[in-house]
Amino acid sequence: MSRLDSFIRRLTAQKILLEHVTDLVKEVAGPVLELGLGNGRTYDHLRENLPGRDIYVFDRELSCHPSCIPQGDFMIFGEIRETLEFCEPRVGEKAAFIHADIGSGDPTTDLATQSWLSPLVDARCKPGGYVLSGLELALDNFDELEKPDGIRPGRYHLYRKK
Ligand code: SAM
Repeated sequence: MSRLDSFIRRLTAQKILLEHVTDLVKEVAGPVLELGLGNGRTYDHLRENLPGRDIYVFDRELSCHPSCIPQGDFMIFGEIRETLEFCEPRVGEKAAFIHADIGSGDPTTDLATQSWLSPLVDARCKPGGYVLSGLELALDNFDELEKPDGIRPGRYHLYRKK
């Protein structure tokens, strides 16, 4: 498969899954955490699909399209390993949905990320809340959910907190 095909498949899976979860999360009150703003594409899709929902965005830098810059109070700058742990005074309630798109493609970095990210995601997600992550996470207090048809196994991971 060419890199172009692989890229298209990845973004298609991301769109299908985000729409699947935003449908589910309409039944769960609480903020959404977007881990990794990047270009702002998935943030833009989230705010379009969850109008009126508070969406807090985490990134170490601002490199998104100008139309996707979050309002000041909702952009949390810094290393997610630090900001996610200490965001409670700003975010308040635990999250109804955490979307994490911070895989690096480097297996060693990604293993390290999985290790520090898993407990932080557990701590910041409310019971009944959803987590969608490009990296597999170790979440004992969660069920891993079936994904919609057409998503290749291992491409994305969908969890719901018990
Ligand atoms: N979902 C985004 C989109 O649709 O445009 C793409 C996200 S991009 C793949 C990953 C982003 O996460 C980058 O902007 C990077 O700066 C940020 N990032 C990755 N690891 C991070 C970390 N440990 N702390 C803070 N930001 C991080």
